[in-house]
Amino acid sequence: MSEQSFDCVVIGAGPGGYVAAIRAAQLGMRTALIERDKVGGRCLNYACIPAKAVLRSADILSEVRSAAEYGVRVESAAVDYAAVQARRERVVGTLTSGVAGLMRKNGIEVISGEASLVAGAPGRVRVGESELAARSIILATGSVGLPIPGVHFGGRVIGTEQAWALPERPGRLAVVGAGASGAEIASAFARLGSEVLLFEMLDRVLPTEDEDISRLAERAFRAQGIAVHTATAVEGVISEESGVSFTHGGSAERVDYLVIAAGRAPDIGALGVAEAGVALDERRQIRVDQALRTSLPGVYAIGDLVPGPALAHKASEEGVIAVEAAAGRSTHAIAHADIPRATFCSPNVASFGLTEAQARAAGHDVVVGKVPYGAVGAGTVYGDRSGLVKVVGERRYGELLGGHIIGTRATELIQELVNLRALEGGYPELARIIHGHPTLSEAIMEAGRAAEGWLIHG
Ligand SMILES: Cc1cc2nc3c(=O)[nH]c(=O)nc-3n(C[C@H](O)[C@H](O)[C@H](O)COP(=O)(O)OP(=O)(O)OC[C@H]3O[C@@H](n4cnc5c(N)ncnc54)[C@H](O)[C@@H]3O)c2cc1C
Repeated sequence: MSEQSFDCVVIGAGPGGYVAAIRAAQLGMRTALIERDKVGGRCLNYACIPAKAVLRSADILSEVRSAAEYGVRVESAAVDYAAVQARRERVVGTLTSGVAGLMRKNGIEVISGEASLVAGAPGRVRVGESELAARSIILATGSVGLPIPGVHFGGRVIGTEQAWALPERPGRLAVVGAGASGAEIASAFARLGSEVLLFEMLDRVLPTEDEDISRLAERAFRAQGIAVHTATAVEGVISEESGVSFTHGGSAERVDYLVIAAGRAPDIGALGVAEAGVALDERRQIRVDQALRTSLPGVYAIGDLVPGPALAHKASEEGVIAVEAAAGRSTHAIAHADIPRATFCSPNVASFGLTEAQARAAGHDVVVGKVPYGAVGAGTVYGDRSGLVKVVGERRYGELLGGHIIGTRATELIQELVNLRALEGGYPELARIIHGHPTLSEAIMEAGRAAEGWLIHG
């Protein structure tokens, strides 16, 4: 059995793992990155990036279809689905080869294979026939999609990652779960020409977002032709060769594919964590402290394996924190609520912090500032008057508790509010920061003014 030794071994090459590996190399650690599939992890290969590539095609089509309003005549617009998928593959290829280049540039040894902790031998990792010795081990193996009770993935019952790589554009598609992933899939395929049914067990779409945002999102989804069914359970799913049948309420449906976007679980199956003595919590996520240390000395866990929102940028930041802690540097804890959340459906939805209802439930003296995009010039210029910025604040010190945006470029705009809070600014500061004109960000400034009670445009 061959053996190599490293200062840091990272298992899983997603946005958590590959970023951790780069930071480790920057700190002078001899570093190995083990991946059983493809560098870039699920995020780059199957999830975030492919999703956004296909959504971009849907966005382009939506723009082309509304071109006449801007005085641009387009004779006809049609979807070339094979070309949409080919572009998705090119985008993924460009980004994953970029990551592979970063590994070479940083002198990181990339090892292909499935890795596990060696039980009873701290600091050792097995990959196939080899064993590696490591001073620090970072677990970054991500998560896998969960089916709904009584249903199995297989045939035409698929997960979200498969949805973005479907070989054909479905004529009729059902999406179960109207959270971020389900909303993105529904909004992309509906605009690309599929008939889409969207199901949600809870009483509103995007149920973790602020209620005002959910309401506007549902209205927009219906306008895109999506049949939205909230407070509805999908039952009796039968996958057949050419389609899937199921029921909801009293109705029976048949669709080409049924996508389940109803939750994920940590991918710990092959890691041997339980045998090695790594403690899990009640949701079978890996238990970690603020520096991402597991219960096993020298072993850290990050990303979708550990509590907090399952987001790529959270995984990356945790990778940095874990490696810095392993290097003996002082680190900071992540405030999960302050991580930006973005859904790239149409219209874009983005938020951070507390919703209005959460802020009230937490007993804050809540103040709200709401401004539609149409209140500022840019909303009309760029053709989105129906977007909305909502800030949720605490009256006493002007603290910004949460920010919620729906509309064009919301996923970019949210960062201003996240930065403001990180730098300990509140809504009174927001109201006085000069914003460029005409930009959509002026609606954010106006939301700060609205919270203070002196909205200028509205
Ligand atoms: C459809 C979809 C769209 C999404 N869109 C977004 C988005 O727009 N923005 C966002 O922030 N988040 C998004 N997410 C969530 C995001 O993908 C995850 O939060 C992120 O990928 C987690 O990163 P990670 O590094 O923890 O793991 P992953 O990206 O899951 O990577 C883990 C890697 O570990 C490998 N692995 C697993 N076990 C082993 C083993 N034993 N040995 C070796 N390798 C192993 C896997 O093959 C995989 O490549 C989306 C998720 C889905 C499903």
